[in-house]
Amino acid sequence: MSSATTNLRFPSVGDASGRTLGEVEIEALRRVIKSGRLGRWSGNEVAQLEAEFARLLGVGYSAASTSGTSAIHLAVAAVNPEPGDEIIVTPITDFGTVAGILAQNAIPVFADVDPVTGCLTPESVASKLSDRTRAVIVVHLFGGGARIDEISTLCADQGITVIEDCAQAYLTVPPGGETFAGSRATIGCFSLQQSKHITSGDGGLTVTSDADLDQRMRLFSDKGWPRTSGERTHLFYGLNYRMTELQGAVARAQLCKLHGVVASRRKTAANLISRMSDLPGLTTVEDAQHHSFWQFPIVLDTAIVPFDNRAYASAVSKYGVPISSGYLDRVLYLVPAIRDRQPYGTSRFPYTVPPSSREIEYGPGDCPVAENLVGRTLLVIPWNEHYTEEHVDALAMALTGAYESLA
Ligand SMILES: *Cc1c(COP(=O)(O)O)cnc(C)c1O
Repeated sequence: MSSATTNLRFPSVGDASGRTLGEVEIEALRRVIKSGRLGRWSGNEVAQLEAEFARLLGVGYSAASTSGTSAIHLAVAAVNPEPGDEIIVTPITDFGTVAGILAQNAIPVFADVDPVTGCLTPESVASKLSDRTRAVIVVHLFGGGARIDEISTLCADQGITVIEDCAQAYLTVPPGGETFAGSRATIGCFSLQQSKHITSGDGGLTVTSDADLDQRMRLFSDKGWPRTSGERTHLFYGLNYRMTELQGAVARAQLCKLHGVVASRRKTAANLISRMSDLPGLTTVEDAQHHSFWQFPIVLDTAIVPFDNRAYASAVSKYGVPISSGYLDRVLYLVPAIRDRQPYGTSRFPYTVPPSSREIEYGPGDCPVAENLVGRTLLVIPWNEHYTEEHVDALAMALTGAYESLA
């Protein structure tokens, strides 16, 4: 197998080649602009998006906002932690998972992950519980389901709210049930940012079946202002996280395409999985039909293969196919914004005692499994609904060729 570099172009989520955008979205924008109703309180595109998304997920309510980060901030604000309360999170995720925790003066506590899926496990969550734990935010990484039902059971008797971060996991079906990620725990959060399965440029959706939480989230996203009461008052502290009608209309059009986008990603991913069965030491997704393939993960067993993720990514890239090692440069607790524990001025609030009840520090070695994934064993191939069998062929050839050249 010679290292023939493919001249195949890979669709990218960064431009039209890898996005499923077209006339329907353009028509949606025309409709809103012609109406002159661009803000959510003057039209009803956003309200309809919320209703349609809640129906899709089979939940009671859905609240739109400006990003995945704000969608999670709404969830944390609705939980309403006391300053210094702890929220358990994974160290392999986007900064948006923890931004809302710090904004509400709570403390992110990092728990370790499963060595294959990269998701929080019930065991790791249990080991980090304290009498200040108020919530757990579980990320369904790359579109693969975490053991969310077990984590919910663990937290239920202790009054701890479980939040699903589904920014990468539209239509993912986590283990232990048949319903979608986002509908399995108490609150689910989604992103409509450029790189996700569907997009309105930016945008967020937070779902729940708890009417009180939904009410708090709506108020938080609109300055605590109860619009329907007719009274100009502010019930509690909130921000302006309102989605525009332009985003809402585009997101509604995108939502109609979601099943097709995910089905197409599953089909080509399943094909690549079958092509990897003769590469011992490379683990990938077990059940393609329950995964939604925001990205296609590969985990190396370094007891079997004589190379690490960086060496393999660089050898595979030589074939002209997209792949990267680690997903992150470093686990989240080692980025300066978290590691330095100074979200507010030079104070150490809320890490100081009080309002925290114990000293929480971050450093190398906190979550060894996560550090090993990012540093040594994890690779991701960007995935896309416009990949064809030719893209899968090129990827299979590159993965095999690089494997043989390094073995
Ligand atoms: C993208 C992402 C976010 C943040 O979403 P934005 O819309 O970019 O703010 C949060 N969590 C995860 C897991 C993500 O992938």
